[in-house]
Amino acid sequence: MEVRSEILTMALRAPFRIAREHPEDVATSVIVEVMWGDHHGLGEAAPGAYYGETAETVMAVLPILAAAVEEAGEPPLAIAGARRWLMTADAAMESAIGRNWAAKAALDIALHDLLARRASIPVYELLGTSAVAPPTDFSIGIDDPADVARRAARAASFPALKIKVGGPADVETLRRVREAYDGPIRVDANTGWQPEGAAAMLPELVALGVELIEQPFPAHRLDQLAWLQERTELPIMADESVETTDDLNALVGVVAAVNVKLMKCGGVGPALRMLERARELGFRSMIGCMVETSVGMAASASVAALAEWVDLDGNLLLARDPFRGLELGSDKRWQLTGGPGLGVTRIRSAPVDGSVDGSVDGIDP
Ligand SMILES: [Mg+2]
Repeated sequence: MEVRSEILTMALRAPFRIAREHPEDVATSVIVEVMWGDHHGLGEAAPGAYYGETAETVMAVLPILAAAVEEAGEPPLAIAGARRWLMTADAAMESAIGRNWAAKAALDIALHDLLARRASIPVYELLGTSAVAPPTDFSIGIDDPADVARRAARAASFPALKIKVGGPADVETLRRVREAYDGPIRVDANTGWQPEGAAAMLPELVALGVELIEQPFPAHRLDQLAWLQERTELPIMADESVETTDDLNALVGVVAAVNVKLMKCGGVGPALRMLERARELGFRSMIGCMVETSVGMAASASVAALAEWVDLDGNLLLARDPFRGLELGSDKRWQLTGGPGLGVTRIRSAPVDGSVDGSVDGIDP
């Protein structure tokens, strides 16, 4: 097995700000290509500093993870055997080193792409999921309320919006968005709210048509999350509080919903198992993402059918996605083509210098 990796620093369409970070105008991914015999597969790590990863940590642990996967032996040709082997490969990576979920996701995604390509089936078929999933929402970062509302109006073709809150003018922002946009509003505070302030806002959030409240308080404050969930019918959704399947049990009876991301749990195989476990435990679920190229987005879309809510817009936030093959339908569902693997290929001529590809309908800043 040979693993090639490359750090891509990609300009965003517009600076993106969430509650606990400064505005970002670039995103960094590590793209990996795994070659095994005559076959190859693409994967992506979108490391987040909040979760302790950077492009450099990903590059440092990839050889350790690759060695662990090689020890799992050759993947079998039959589909069922390949599925079992992928679980063995994930377990081998898990034994080799803790955490480093985005790095693990990069190899897990690439191995799924490789084995699906080898079998000439799409990744969702290898996983036993469906190609048809709910449509994605579109996320808008913290900004001046008028600017957020202007972007909301331009994103009117999306069936739901995720509005980042935890800034100085949350209620004003949500009122302005409501005037500009008719659909459901999902709010994500990225740990930036205080309990009393959040509780005081609840009636207005309900009146404004907010559909769910994501991670209002710090990740470890499950007591505060439970306190707010007891006070509202709106689903409180854990994101920063829930990284892997191991975190789910502690959230039973605390929150109604969880946000599953490949970059938090170690890839598309772990995400599938986490979504299944979340359903067994009675959670409502979202499949979410970091800012990622359509490699990560196609992998996430391959398990999106298992989620109630889809927040897979990471590649739409990029000025230019360096991969092609994944298309967003007019109904804002990701179109998984039925071709082999993830169905995405590198656009070798794509500039990553910040020139904006204006072809995505309605969401230019
Ligand atoms: Mg979130």
